[in-house]
Amino acid sequence: MPELPEVETVRRTLEPFVLDRTISRVEVLYPRVLQSISPQEFTLALVGNRFTSLTRRGKYLLFTVSTGLVMVVHLRMTGRLVAMSSSEVPREKHTSAVFTFSAGGELRFIDQRKFGTINLLPPDRLTEVRGLREMGPEPLGDGFTPAYLARVCEGKKAPIKSVLLDQRQIAGLGNIYADESLFAAGIHPMRPAGELRPGEVERLYDAIRTVLTDAVANQGTTFRDYRTGIGTEGSFQNKLQVYGRKGLPCPNCGQTLQHARVGGRTSHFCPHCQGGPEQ
Ligand SMILES: [Zn+2]
Repeated sequence: MPELPEVETVRRTLEPFVLDRTISRVEVLYPRVLQSISPQEFTLALVGNRFTSLTRRGKYLLFTVSTGLVMVVHLRMTGRLVAMSSSEVPREKHTSAVFTFSAGGELRFIDQRKFGTINLLPPDRLTEVRGLREMGPEPLGDGFTPAYLARVCEGKKAPIKSVLLDQRQIAGLGNIYADESLFAAGIHPMRPAGELRPGEVERLYDAIRTVLTDAVANQGTTFRDYRTGIGTEGSFQNKLQVYGRKGLPCPNCGQTLQHARVGGRTSHFCPHCQGGPEQ
């Protein structure tokens, strides 16, 4: 699933392509991609108008329309938003929606698993999207501080890995970057969050910021489906230390990397460098 670095890369690569171009046609090929709006209403609200800004919140993309409405997109498991300079390029099988621009070119939403969603709302109704309403601070923004992370962990018996994945606590972290951050901080994913020492919380805070910044600079991680907004692959998969590397040697100490289920998700870690769950 695309996480903060992937969604941010999609935003950055799409921005120059989609902004201030008049939308001449909208095709909804998979109507269930739309949340609480019919394909007819959706098309009517967009055709003849433009996207005036493209921002990101957690794993959501927010396209502001020239009418003031906001198109909210979540890519979920396999969703991709790709700019096509020509409508001539054959459409992929799982294309759910196509936005054609009058100056030429298309924005396509392609989603093999079909869990991705598109919503269209006035700005004062964005809180109807529960994921947006309940979202914690951006980990690369000013609202995310060591003191905030300490407050989030305080008193919690849940494994730190589960706390990091909770979008209500921190926006945009998923399995890849939670595992990489915990490795960089030397903290076992099963450690109860409330038992982290102040120095460990500081290390984890620094690790989250460093890992995410580096991943954005590398345009995210491509294993299978994820592509940037112009269809290219990210390169952070070449820099992963533990995620997806079970059975391989730890890049730090050489011991065999392990994996375990934590909160229903597979966690990758080094049993030596990240100590034990009871440290
Ligand atoms: Zn190690």
